Amino acid sequence: MGLKPPFDVKSIKPGEFAYITKRKLKNKNNEETGEIILWRKKDEEESHYIMKCPYCGTEQSGSVVFKRRPYRVKCSSCRRTITLPKLLSKKVI
Ligand SMILES: [Zn+2]
Repeated sequence: MGLKPPFDVKSIKPGEFAYITKRKLKNKNNEETGEIILWRKKDEEESHYIMKCPYCGTEQSGSVVFKRRPYRVKCSSCRRTITLPKLLSKKVI
């Protein structure tokens, strides 16, 4: 089980993405109940994500322009703010 990006990871061309990464997200009890896949294409300012909220479990997708660290996204369902662990290495899934 887990989130799947809305594209075939194997079809990514070298240099097409600035980054694509997958991280577990923890709830307030420090349990890994959520997950995020986050990516940004090189020629775009926005990052896109699919996420399972660690607090309420809702799966959702969205896009965000990150300005300052630490990077945060907001759950569209429970409205909690989720601070992302260090993400912007060039790690590919
Ligand atoms: Zn939520």
